Amino acid sequence: MKVAIFYNHEKQSLEAVKKLKELLLQFFFVLDEKNPDVILSVGGDGTLLSAFHKYEKQLDKVQFVGIHIGHLGFYTDWHEFEMEELVRALKEKSADSVSYPLLDVVVEYEEKSKHFLALNESTLRRESKTLVGDIYIHDEFFESFRGDGLSVSTPTGSTAHNKSIGGAVIHPSINALQLTEIASLNNRLFRTLGSPIVIGAHEWIKVQLSLSDDYMITVDREVVASKNVQAVNFRIAKERVHFVSYRHLHFWDRVKESFITGRLS
Ligand code: NAP
Repeated sequence: MKVAIFYNHEKQSLEAVKKLKELLLQFFFVLDEKNPDVILSVGGDGTLLSAFHKYEKQLDKVQFVGIHIGHLGFYTDWHEFEMEELVRALKEKSADSVSYPLLDVVVEYEEKSKHFLALNESTLRRESKTLVGDIYIHDEFFESFRGDGLSVSTPTGSTAHNKSIGGAVIHPSINALQLTEIASLNNRLFRTLGSPIVIGAHEWIKVQLSLSDDYMITVDREVVASKNVQAVNFRIAKERVHFVSYRHLHFWDRVKESFITGRLS
């Protein structure tokens, strides 16, 4: 098994990575940053997002494992003090693999389009003025949106920015996407549904925009486009992200402990 380590550069992570490298060599793993079978991400959920994007062209060949420094995350199952147990398991035990849906984003310009994959979400905002866009679902006009912006998130991304803007938390086994409004204008003149909507695998969303050079389209941690965007299309990607799974952490326990009781570490 070829293994790559992806990490953030915080002091505690660097110390954990040093120890992890020693363990991997002790158990005769081959370290291969370019063509790994398994990617060990050391940091938090944010670090795993960056690891995902580094290897997003190899998703059919790679599996991720998240080691968290500090609090338990949504993509990170192992604490740094469990690294030996993890390395032993990778060597000796066959693991289950779990996979989750991803968001496919196509940004349309006048003469071209660009394609992106999101693990958490993609947001659409406008810097100087109210964002105005017509929303189509399955090619049928749904509503005209005016407000600060829109977010489309995956089920695993539903606990991230989506949750902060009032979106629902969605179990990652559900193959769906969620469209959530960011501060929509609702008055006598302008009206939107005003609540998040969840679409299934056979549907897609298009946001048709008026011409402007100050849009801000994000995909997870990155701003991917701003100028001359005409429309943005969202659907569930054909690719999925795969995680090595030796232990089953009940999703709702993770939600409860992360947001309500804060006991898991
Ligand atoms: P970041 O500092 O890497 O992340 C911001 C926080 O979001 C961190 O605490 C991170 O956890 C947590 N997070 C990331 N993915 C999550 C998930 N799927 N479920 C629950 N929490 C999650 O910020 P960034 O680099 O700008 O953006 C990374 C992600 O953070 C974005 O995709 C966005 O969803 C989220 N974010 C949320 C808000 C908000 O809620 N207002 C604002 C900015 C960004 P760790 O500490 O474990 O890394």
